[in-house]
Amino acid sequence: MTTEQTGKVLVIDDNAVIKRLATMLLAKKGHSVETASSGLEGIECAKSFKPHVILLDVMMPEIDGYEVCRCLKAEAATKDIPIIMVTSRAEIVDKVKGLELGAADYIQKPYDHEELQARVATQIKMKTLWDELQEKNKLLEELVKKDGLTNLYNHRYFHDRIVEEFSRSKRYGLALSCVLMDIDFFKKINDSYGHQAGDEILKKLAEIILASIRDVDIAARYGGEEFALILPHTTIENAATFSERLRRSVDETDFQFEGIRIRVTVSLGVASLPENRPQSHTDIIRFADEALYSAKNAGRNRVELYRM
Ligand code: GH3
Ligand code: MG
Ligand code: MG
Repeated sequence: MTTEQTGKVLVIDDNAVIKRLATMLLAKKGHSVETASSGLEGIECAKSFKPHVILLDVMMPEIDGYEVCRCLKAEAATKDIPIIMVTSRAEIVDKVKGLELGAADYIQKPYDHEELQARVATQIKMKTLWDELQEKNKLLEELVKKDGLTNLYNHRYFHDRIVEEFSRSKRYGLALSCVLMDIDFFKKINDSYGHQAGDEILKKLAEIILASIRDVDIAARYGGEEFALILPHTTIENAATFSERLRRSVDETDFQFEGIRIRVTVSLGVASLPENRPQSHTDIIRFADEALYSAKNAGRNRVELYRM
């Protein structure tokens, strides 16, 4: 027994004898094989079966292998599946054409059985590695946007998004609100209950925020104990209602650390497009920050709207 990796192989060939032979050779290696007799059928099967590799005959009636290759490489769902072009001796000059179209490899008919098995095994291995890499990249992309403690978006991502949302809202004449929220007397909480208690409060607040927002809203940890929200399509009135509700749910939440109840309140500042007429994303953030400062000055545990 070999320790070779097994995978899913799609054989696209109009010749029933070749299909049967390829299936037999590949099944013998433990692969799971599906077959298609035409280009169109093959393209459909590639989408539903999601093979690790496709063995594609060049010479087929109606749509030939090159065209099938072109179609598969043009579709997001199938573009990363490696294709091995199967040519006959007469077509050998065309082998470069397949590679140019994005095929991973080619094999010439009549092929050596072991060569076919080896080439398929190589592509399965490559595809598996590729899939793992994609998976890891996706994870990294997520991680790079997030704050480690709260799992909310981080400052940098917030910044990128507000630049984008601001220009989009401005261009299409849509409302946009920015809310900054800061924990009241957080230093005292840390001093009285410890930094770990403070961290737990930050995490709990993140949960409250996430439970309060809509899918399109963006919630970020803006700084140490400060949170920032982007509310697309939201006027200042609606942002005020939202912020007041958020303030109240924090106020009414029973924060506990090691059995001790901790009172936590937050202050919020709201600024909006078009009401406050911000000219840039910098303006809207600055306005929200000024409103937050007013909320702190006015006694904390409250929401203030920016007044221009
Ligand atoms: P104010 O009501 O004016 O906002 O008072 P405050 O005490 O909340 O504000 P101040 O800026 O004086 O203190 C913020 C505190 O937040 C100080 C810092 O130790 C704490 N802090 C910042 N980041 C973290 C963190 O990640 N974890 C914990 N536990 N505390 C943090
Ligand atoms: Mg053929
Ligand atoms: Mg604070």
